Amino acid sequence: MMKSLLEIRRDLHQIPELGFKEIKTQAYLLEQIKALPQERLTIIEWKTGIVVKVEGTLPRKTIGWRTDIDGLPITEATDLPFKSQHEGKMHACGHDLHMTVALGLLRKLVDNPIKDNVVIIFQPAEEGPGGALPIREWLKTEHPELVPNQIYAFHIAPEYPVGTVATRPGLLFANTSELFIDLVGKEGHAAFPHQAKDMSIAAATLLLQLQTIVSRSVNPMDPAVLTIGKMYSGTVQNIISGEARLEGTIRTMDAETMLIVKEKIESFCRATEIAFDCDIIIDYGSSYYQVKNNDMLANEFLTFAKQDASTTAIVCDAAMTGEDFGYFLQEIPGVIFWVGVDSPFGLHHAKLNPNETVIDYLVPFIESYFRVLSK
Ligand SMILES: [Zn+2]
Ligand SMILES: [Zn+2]
Repeated sequence: MMKSLLEIRRDLHQIPELGFKEIKTQAYLLEQIKALPQERLTIIEWKTGIVVKVEGTLPRKTIGWRTDIDGLPITEATDLPFKSQHEGKMHACGHDLHMTVALGLLRKLVDNPIKDNVVIIFQPAEEGPGGALPIREWLKTEHPELVPNQIYAFHIAPEYPVGTVATRPGLLFANTSELFIDLVGKEGHAAFPHQAKDMSIAAATLLLQLQTIVSRSVNPMDPAVLTIGKMYSGTVQNIISGEARLEGTIRTMDAETMLIVKEKIESFCRATEIAFDCDIIIDYGSSYYQVKNNDMLANEFLTFAKQDASTTAIVCDAAMTGEDFGYFLQEIPGVIFWVGVDSPFGLHHAKLNPNETVIDYLVPFIESYFRVLSK
């Protein structure tokens, strides 16, 4: 027998693991999945992820559901009796709840199958380096029969009460990219600047130039953000710094604009290399494609949610946050939606504490939506 969903959520909450290191998480999920009647199930592992197919009773299509499974490098600061047992790691983005709801949905579909096939994807590494793109590509090449015809997912939203869902047709989340720039020059004595290559000056100059990209190279009708949140350089007050590093993030609403911003960053870095006689290495870290809901499916979903007696449905604004679910939506029509969990602390906060009653609300809500989709 699969454990109760509340137990599952609390168990998973205690074992957060980072991207592609979800070893215990994967084993735990497999144990729960294998505790179900297996007749209709196909279970395939991919790295630390799992793909489960539930055979429909009269399948004409395959409906996909995706959950992410990774935690964050954050030290939990709650007093919960089931707080993280993994020092320095926490399910601070609610992926423990995402997994629990996916298992709950799976159990419902096994107990009472719908007509269509359902494929549930337990995807590693959403927070980085990104599991959606490689698992999508693996499915296409190795298991094309498991690629869904449409796909859905949710993310917890601390700011809404339980029973609220929110989404919108079209663009929901931005294109995002991390940005790490290493500048390598030559350290030297403070009194002999001509013999050194000062990377503090180079980094400071570059930082200011980068700030002109959004204001001078991007169409003002086209929202974009380039933030350098961290900058460091040097070792001691009287030594010229030989190395510096800028760390930041890029967000754009348009996929094309992301390319323009990156091209400009590269131009400014090349120019800085020439001007300051140094080497610059750019690393974009985790780079995520925009999350664009399918218009028709999002409207269908909102119509369903609005007539559901226990649900408040909101058409929300697009946000400059990122989600690697965008890689699924790039090729498969689908929808991701926010679900209220009523926590005073936001996503990625060390005190995030979602209201667990969301589980009992959400699982039957999604189940009944899948029944409508499969009518
Ligand atoms: Zn997150
Ligand atoms: Zn998340």
